Amino acid sequence: MSKRILIAEDESIIRMDLKMTLQDHGYEVVGEAGDGDRAIELAFLHKPDLILMDIKMPKMNGLKASRIIGEQLDIPILIITAYSQKEFVEKAQQDSVVGYLVKPISEANLIPAIEVALHQSSKAKRLKDSIQHAKQQVEKRKVVERAKGILMSTEHLTEQQAFKKMRDTSMSRQMTMESLAMEIIDLHK
Ligand SMILES: [Mg+2]
Repeated sequence: MSKRILIAEDESIIRMDLKMTLQDHGYEVVGEAGDGDRAIELAFLHKPDLILMDIKMPKMNGLKASRIIGEQLDIPILIITAYSQKEFVEKAQQDSVVGYLVKPISEANLIPAIEVALHQSSKAKRLKDSIQHAKQQVEKRKVVERAKGILMSTEHLTEQQAFKKMRDTSMSRQMTMESLAMEIIDLHK
């Protein structure tokens, strides 16, 4: 599936140029904003895979818009900046801003920057998912341990017997150990 990109740039010629370059490389441009307010609106509406964000725009500048978007959405943002603003951007570090491109933007700069940004963000997302998964596994284990403890004390079983009983029951009732454990915990509340 092609990656979905939002462009926020107030100069329509640059915006059109970016759009064509992106489309030429198989990206889908899901929205075009000419100011910061609209950029926020479209970011929430389309939840793109990446945002190209100009700094100097009417209504709200791109850095402020990026901060607002970054507070709630997990979308990598590539800042488009004039050379004179370079230092300013480096100081205004934000998690959601994954890089910046200095105008004039050529195809040779744009496409690799986008590929790197997309690659890094998918790596970060995978890492986040695996941490989340590990946390869930720990939670599941805790529930099973608690239910096992309940069985040991209420039915005077050894740890091994309690575990075996839970495993056999979960198999014969075709349910997961966690759901059985939760049932045991509920029964002994
Ligand atoms: Mg501008």
